[in-house]
Amino acid sequence: MMQSEKVLKMEAKELKEHIARQYDSIEKHRKFNAFITVNKGADRPTIAIKDNITVKGMRATGSSKIIDNYIAPYSATAVERLKNLSIIGKTALDAFGTGSTGSNSDYGPVRNPHDEKRVAGGSSAGNGVALALDMCDFALGTDTYGSLRSPSSFCGVVGLRPSYGLVSRYGLMDLSMSLDTIGPMAHDVYGAAYILSMIVGHDSRDCLTEKSKKIEYHKELDIDAKRLTMIVLEENDSDLVDRKVAKTVASAVERLEQAGVKKVTAKLPDLDKSIPMYYLSMAAEFASAMQKFDGLRYGPREEGYELEEIVSKTRGRYLNAEIKRRIMLGTFVTMKEQQSKWYAAAIKARARLKQEINKVMERGDVLITPTMPVLPWKIEEIMDDPLKNYAMDLFSGLAPIIGGPALSVPCGNIGELPIGLQIGAKRFDELKCLQLGNLFEGLK
Ligand code: GLN
Repeated sequence: MMQSEKVLKMEAKELKEHIARQYDSIEKHRKFNAFITVNKGADRPTIAIKDNITVKGMRATGSSKIIDNYIAPYSATAVERLKNLSIIGKTALDAFGTGSTGSNSDYGPVRNPHDEKRVAGGSSAGNGVALALDMCDFALGTDTYGSLRSPSSFCGVVGLRPSYGLVSRYGLMDLSMSLDTIGPMAHDVYGAAYILSMIVGHDSRDCLTEKSKKIEYHKELDIDAKRLTMIVLEENDSDLVDRKVAKTVASAVERLEQAGVKKVTAKLPDLDKSIPMYYLSMAAEFASAMQKFDGLRYGPREEGYELEEIVSKTRGRYLNAEIKRRIMLGTFVTMKEQQSKWYAAAIKARARLKQEINKVMERGDVLITPTMPVLPWKIEEIMDDPLKNYAMDLFSGLAPIIGGPALSVPCGNIGELPIGLQIGAKRFDELKCLQLGNLFEGLK
């Protein structure tokens, strides 16, 4: 039985001891900066919630000092739908989701649980650490362009980005609204499937959620390997990917083939365009979403004589450098004189990539790539290097661009550092991702 299933079946006494050990681990590992708020008194299997998702009555900072003292007056729909779980706390992220490392949190860089000098992956960094160091049983994260999968890969846990429109975004702080999703992270595929089953479904407060048939994912994980075809990208082995990562993923593919999964290969020549496309279009949406943080409605406020002075002093003091960079970029690319050259070009590239990826997806059931093309950087190596940071999203965009799901499962280690295998599928085909992930877990 997998770890998640065991926890769900624990007797009261055993569960109490188990949760006490989680609180001890939170206390003992404070320097990893995983939690921003800890909830006392958990008495059911525990779930950590990323701090850009609201929980009624709890502080919600999004890891940004601009709303340092914000207490959420309502819960996100995904949080409301959780049943028989205790929220153990709110976890750190790259402020408002802006990063792939966890080092852009205003509450201290999140540290990798396997090597504290390295990044944990992001932006759902605190969740990755909290799971890897046994501080919680499950977690809710968010994923715009990799945020759930990057920390899953770097911390050695499981994370699923659901299809766009499957889980309500109500109560999620926007990064890029056309791509943002809320999804589960867990110790194993069963745990991710279990949480997913609870949180999916139409919500009148997010008009882009689909009215689809409800699936109990965790009850349908078994599948005959011979019924699945995996598409393996040739780019998995390109010079954009660390050699050790490429090798580990290739050996995972071999194991799946030996287990009976059919394999086809495909090419995505425009893969490298996904990063510039994303950073331009995301920045445009982000700059607009950030306008509400003006010091008047939420968070701390600086003194000033005129409105403009108050707003600019407040934003100047409480927004970090990466957020300012994105606001400036987004403002620039949507200026009347610049729009056609940058923002419109990005939107065109997005449409073309979508076509290309969907064509590749036609060839099989699941798409296999590394989750991250590199091993976790040392914190100081990456902190002030935006381009190095952005390059980590090479494979992150495949799912968001087509609005589809992608799962990250651990597939091996280089020394102490875990590597993640990314399993993507067509829109609303999360069951295939989970089935293949579950099958893979069983091979080890
Ligand atoms: N790494 C990407 C960024 O920095 C995506 C983060 C996310 O999915 N929230 O914006």
